[in-house]
Amino acid sequence: MCGCTPIILTFDDGTSGQFNLIESGDQLVANPKSAVGIMEEFYKEHPDFGLNGTFYINGTSIFSGKGTVKERLEYLIDKGFEIGNHTNTHPYLNKSSSEEIKEEVGIVNNLVKELTGYEINSLALPYGISSKDYADLLAKGSYKDVEYENKIILLVGAEPALSSNNEKVNLQRLPRVRATGGNKRVDCDLYYWLDVMDKNPKMKYTRLENDSGDKLVD
Ligand SMILES: [Zn+2]
Repeated sequence: MCGCTPIILTFDDGTSGQFNLIESGDQLVANPKSAVGIMEEFYKEHPDFGLNGTFYINGTSIFSGKGTVKERLEYLIDKGFEIGNHTNTHPYLNKSSSEEIKEEVGIVNNLVKELTGYEINSLALPYGISSKDYADLLAKGSYKDVEYENKIILLVGAEPALSSNNEKVNLQRLPRVRATGGNKRVDCDLYYWLDVMDKNPKMKYTRLENDSGDKLVD
């Protein structure tokens, strides 16, 4: 058996632990203790690993630290990281009206676009909770005459996603695996799935189903 297991690193909530700028001489650089700083260091030693990840930000607090929000976002974009939408105030979207949903998505979309010209095209649902009545407005809409479109919408958990070219994949409800827990195993988090995949190596390439469509795990 051969092949690769693509992994996409995603970060929600725009915390300074994930990324913050510090002064170094007359420059602003990523704090080496932040995830971005660690990834940059790792990339220097392992350039074949790439330097990629998507940061799902809210509108209220964006990577607190040195520099302006524009400088912080541009730093990430210039390095090749992606910016995603995590809504303005991180609400329970199942309780939001259609107007509130447009505002929640639109404010972050418009802010990033105005500051950097960057077009956001994906959304991570706060708490992984969607809207029953207005899911279409999460995917596409407009706010203050600026259109937005989220081609991919991410859940919070709880299993590896199918490949984007698998006919069964639903890009509007794409699952993720949380990397919480450290070396303490939490069901359906990263260490749980690494164990499952060790025991079912084929799953690393075909994910949740084998060739006959049987689930490998419950
Ligand atoms: Zn969140």
